[in-house]
Amino acid sequence: MSKWKETSKIDAHIHLTPDDVIEANSDFDGKFIVNGSAKDYLNLMEKYKIEKAFIMPFNDPYMLSMEFTIEAVHNNLLKIAKEYEGKFLCFADIDIRRDIFETLNEFDRVFKNENFIGIKIHPTNTGYPIDGLYYDKIFEYAEKNNLLLEIHSYPRESLLDDVCSPLRIKKMLRKYPNARVSIAHLGGFQFNELIGSDIYANISAVLPDLVKRLGLKQTNNILRSFGVERLIFATDYPDNRILKAEEIYDSYFEILDSMDFSQEEIMKICKTNALKMIGK
Ligand SMILES: [Zn+2]
Repeated sequence: MSKWKETSKIDAHIHLTPDDVIEANSDFDGKFIVNGSAKDYLNLMEKYKIEKAFIMPFNDPYMLSMEFTIEAVHNNLLKIAKEYEGKFLCFADIDIRRDIFETLNEFDRVFKNENFIGIKIHPTNTGYPIDGLYYDKIFEYAEKNNLLLEIHSYPRESLLDDVCSPLRIKKMLRKYPNARVSIAHLGGFQFNELIGSDIYANISAVLPDLVKRLGLKQTNNILRSFGVERLIFATDYPDNRILKAEEIYDSYFEILDSMDFSQEEIMKICKTNALKMIGK
């Protein structure tokens, strides 16, 4: 029996696609279209004991709306959260082509709604560095309003100054020491730079990649070095660099079952830490 599969959990980083976007792109067989339906995802939630999932936008409004604005993206995410009440919480989107003041105004609107729990920053999708001025204003806003920031960090391995690199992130953590920050993908293969930082670290996307390259034991040690209190279960479903969408959950649980986490620790990583992270 899989301990990880059977433990009630939150997946703290997934992607769903609004129905109208799926319909408009049905000729295109990308994973976000084929595997992105909220209705289909409910079956996985049941199968894998996922109580709740956090839906992430892409910092690219073309992915989640047919109007291509963050307002439309937010309305679409909210629609999913309302339709399946209690199942999903959402992160707010950013479109860096927009004036920063418009973006912050939209945050004021969106965070009146408790289905939104944080802001997603995706420096790789925007091609803009995490320590750039636009994101600096977002950090300032998030720190001031005590909002969680979820930062994509899966940099190109050899580029210590990649737009989403841990070195740049740490610069922002020093500038905004009270910002609540969650790092998606552990900083990729630059994970070493983040160990010891005051962050939450989620294992979305990167876990199978680490195991493939470094083996199970070393990956287990890496996870432990972030600290059991900081680790968050997440997959990035339906996206993965080496797995097909339908392989993701079974593969995650197979890997995690082979590691040395106790049942008490599994419960923290699967749920307690995520609830603490979002202040619940
Ligand atoms: Zn993602």
